[in-house]
Amino acid sequence: MSGIAVSAPRLLLRRLHHVMAGRGAPEQRLDEIVRLIAGNMVAEVCSCYLMRAGDVLELFATEGLKKNSVHQTRLRLGEGLVGDIAAHARPLNLSDAQSHPQFAYRPETGEEAYHSLLGTPILRGGRVIGVLVVQNRTRRTYTEEEVEALQTVAMVVAELVSSEQMIASAEFSDTAGNATLPHHITGRVLAEGLATGFALMHEPRIEVKRTLSSDSVQELKRLDNAVSALQSSVDALLVATNTLFSDESKEIFEAYKMFAHDKGWLKKLQEAVKSGLTVEAAIKRVQDDTRARMKEITDPYLRERLSELDDLANRLYLHLDGRSQVDRRNLQQDTIVVARNMGAAELLDYDRRHLKAVILEEGTRASHVAIVARALGVPVIGQCEEVIETAETGDFILADGEHGQVFLRPAEDVQEAFYRSMRQREERQAKYAALRDKPNQSKDGVSLILNVNAGLLIDVDHFHDFGADGIGLFRTELQFMVRSQMPKVDEQTELYSGVLDKLNGKPVVFRTLDVGGDKMLPYLRTKPEENPALGWRAIRIGLDRPALLRSQLRAMVRAAAGRELSLMFPMIAEVSEFLEAKAILNKEIERAKKRNGGGPSKVNVGTMIEVPSIVWQLPQLLREVDFVSIGSNDLMQFFFAVDRGNPIISDRYDTLSPSLLSLLRQIARSCEEAKTPFSVCGDIAGRPLEVMALMGLGYRNFSMSPEMMGPVKEMALSADIGKIEPFVRSLCGVRDHSVRDQLRAFARDHSIIV
Ligand code: PEP
Ligand code: MG
Repeated sequence: MSGIAVSAPRLLLRRLHHVMAGRGAPEQRLDEIVRLIAGNMVAEVCSCYLMRAGDVLELFATEGLKKNSVHQTRLRLGEGLVGDIAAHARPLNLSDAQSHPQFAYRPETGEEAYHSLLGTPILRGGRVIGVLVVQNRTRRTYTEEEVEALQTVAMVVAELVSSEQMIASAEFSDTAGNATLPHHITGRVLAEGLATGFALMHEPRIEVKRTLSSDSVQELKRLDNAVSALQSSVDALLVATNTLFSDESKEIFEAYKMFAHDKGWLKKLQEAVKSGLTVEAAIKRVQDDTRARMKEITDPYLRERLSELDDLANRLYLHLDGRSQVDRRNLQQDTIVVARNMGAAELLDYDRRHLKAVILEEGTRASHVAIVARALGVPVIGQCEEVIETAETGDFILADGEHGQVFLRPAEDVQEAFYRSMRQREERQAKYAALRDKPNQSKDGVSLILNVNAGLLIDVDHFHDFGADGIGLFRTELQFMVRSQMPKVDEQTELYSGVLDKLNGKPVVFRTLDVGGDKMLPYLRTKPEENPALGWRAIRIGLDRPALLRSQLRAMVRAAAGRELSLMFPMIAEVSEFLEAKAILNKEIERAKKRNGGGPSKVNVGTMIEVPSIVWQLPQLLREVDFVSIGSNDLMQFFFAVDRGNPIISDRYDTLSPSLLSLLRQIARSCEEAKTPFSVCGDIAGRPLEVMALMGLGYRNFSMSPEMMGPVKEMALSADIGKIEPFVRSLCGVRDHSVRDQLRAFARDHSIIV
């Protein structure tokens, strides 16, 4: 990975440092900078164009072109060579610029005298904020060192343009000041709730606040310290995980180790620092260089390696000044985490006392991070375009998880309106709390079972606040996902018995391990799959690795000694799978009886209905099971062949479509005939309008995320099931894409609160 130095001549940087540290108006300093660059690079011209509102590049300073063209010469993004450099965010190196098809002649500049041109974008936070150009009369090709030098200098210009004084300056106010202005993004609600807090970037990007250092020796020391810390953390990771990780993961860590000790990479960083850059700027320059190479390389193996190097640069940055010490488990203030996307386990890494909301650039409602967040009562707003680029760590944020709105650095009047909404929400919560002790039934007196979903012991702490009848789905995989190694049987037993203790006799349904798909365990060896949602997951893993399932069932049987145990298997696609899994359970029950005469007082074994194929074996299945529960998230995914985690299509079909309602009616009817208890525990069981429809189809048992108990119960108390049933059943036969509007109108006409 060794290569040429990514630095600029030391003398030039020292002079630039002088200008940056000096006083004077920003425009004067920019003039001085272009003069210095021209002189140093032996160029007749050096010009700086900055982006104005409306994507227009305006000449702000020049050495060599006619002075009266400053603030006169303007090019649209994509127009001329300057516009082309900005549009593609990459340098151009031309020995004969005027023969280039993109050349746009501007007579006011007098540039017809110059043939060769080297230009580079001025970048800030990944966005082009201007273009820096040098020109020469002779036809010459600039060397790679010169290209790199100009790129380094462009970083200095970016710093000047973005510095506080420049933003205050009227000339620059519409160019680079965006990062401090209020900004509003509309996304989608993935988990309900309102929150305020300070932004924390889940993966901090390299932020270069200062490009030039005043003391290279001191900077070199900072770099050395950060590199040593990085190397030991990578080495330690490798040793600690050697026995736990799969071969693929180990390979990645080995590659990290190789790069972390790579002499070429380190030398490049040291040279950049020695030339006068800060460590941050040096890392950024080396990273930019890696990224530029990545763009050119098509070989997937090499690209992979370069992307590891890119990642390593991010990690190194985290080690600067002990920054890796930022401890997700001990947040210091109310925090709103901003991420492109994240896994459920990563969410659980954060300190629950201070984690107030999560903002994602991607994400869907059915993704597991959203499910876990709902269980924890943490609002999540997803599909927020460009939030990674617009938010900065420390920004104050209002997260509106009712309407899918995110307000970055909000103005005072917006804050006041938001606090009013928060008070109203609190009032609504108080109203729901008042419903808690009312019986769970419909307006016409039909009894309902309203359960909550859970997955960790902390969820269960608040169980009794919700007025739930029990836990309808306990996702046991969460305990596995939050750890770096497989929990032992004793640890699993402790969790399950803790849950049963806290429930104090109220029913709880444990679901056996449902991993795979988008719920990966780092310590479980799996081969990469092309379609993980259709792959090796849930009960398929349990049956192929019976030791894993057996140890979990052993823990459940032990935990429930002398008490009732209810458990179900996920992703059952055919009856034989259920029978096989149940046989393993029976052996564990026998074992417990033989060992200490113990075992649960009663065992109820059920299955999730998530794979459509099982619906065609329902009569056979229902003869074997004690109950079934519909996992509508996966059922919907497989029914419509639509990836639940893919925002492009996850909303393409409606849960309130006549076809899905017909399927749900068919399942209910089969269960009614077989007299087998049935429930719904997917996301739709927590949405009032959907629950109203399900009640009309015969469903009486719902398990939902705890914060939806209030709205669902309020709806049920206002709903007359006798009237809903004929209406909803008639809708199953219509041809519409969705019957949501009809159901909403029905609710309105019958004063049902949805
Ligand atoms: C479901 O698929 O609806 C379900 C409840 O399981 P999970 O969301 O955990 O896959
Ligand atoms: Mg599922």
